[in-house]
Amino acid sequence: MIRLGYHVSIAGGISKSFDYSYEIGSTSMQIFLSSPRMWALEKASLDEKRKFLEKTNKFDINPIFVHMPYLPNIASPKQDIYEKSIKIMTEIIDECNTLSIPYVVAHLGSDLGTGKEKGIERVVSAINKIKKKNNGVSILLENQAGQKNSVGSDLNDLKKIFDSINTEEKGFCIDTCHLFAAGYDIRKKEILNEIKNILKFENIKLIHLNDAIYDLGSKRDRHEFIGKGTIGVEGFKKFFSYEGLNKMNFILETPRLNKDEELKELSLVRDLISN
Ligand code: MN
Ligand code: MN
Ligand code: ZN
Repeated sequence: MIRLGYHVSIAGGISKSFDYSYEIGSTSMQIFLSSPRMWALEKASLDEKRKFLEKTNKFDINPIFVHMPYLPNIASPKQDIYEKSIKIMTEIIDECNTLSIPYVVAHLGSDLGTGKEKGIERVVSAINKIKKKNNGVSILLENQAGQKNSVGSDLNDLKKIFDSINTEEKGFCIDTCHLFAAGYDIRKKEILNEIKNILKFENIKLIHLNDAIYDLGSKRDRHEFIGKGTIGVEGFKKFFSYEGLNKMNFILETPRLNKDEELKELSLVRDLISN
């Protein structure tokens, strides 16, 4: 079965995310645990957690992915920000453990101009502090779009970080828009070969399926509805025809206006994956 869903809202409580995902026929989903624009993690009530766990068993919607909020920066040279980022990421991973959520997706932040090597070092030491022991929750390192000073846009850097962290609970989340913006032309077989060789497909636990508003190598992180962007329907057909890429877990983070558009996009994507 294709594992496909949206990043969905948790308005009204985290357990509500299941109802909406079920309504639109999703078989996977991604959520934030609390507002992505706040530093503090607002934990769910015990009652809400109980409902969430009940629905985890009731619905065939899995795996579930939690996305890190926007403010933390585990590559930051600013000590206060760096420490706050480690603290919230640790809390989120603990919270995922209590909710039986197996994956946390993390952007690796910005080195703020201090250089790539320093940024990579800080990311590695942050993750090593966060994942001191196994707790059943894996960190998925997400590739970035190549914005100035961003860490992890180059897949070789992402792999270097992966190899340097002392935990088995790790993997990659590959975002198609970010790849394309960073200059990886995912419509081409030789580029997909390169991605496979660097990351190894068994380490890719999630693909963020997003089309891109801007062109190849734009370094801009702006998502588009699948098929309406610069990757396009033909581009995604080529992407999914590459052996192994139609068997991943997929989450859409595309801009869409309403449920009708979501249903349309989900069915388009299902067709693209299975053809
Ligand atoms: Mn992301
Ligand atoms: Mn993404
Ligand atoms: Zn993005």
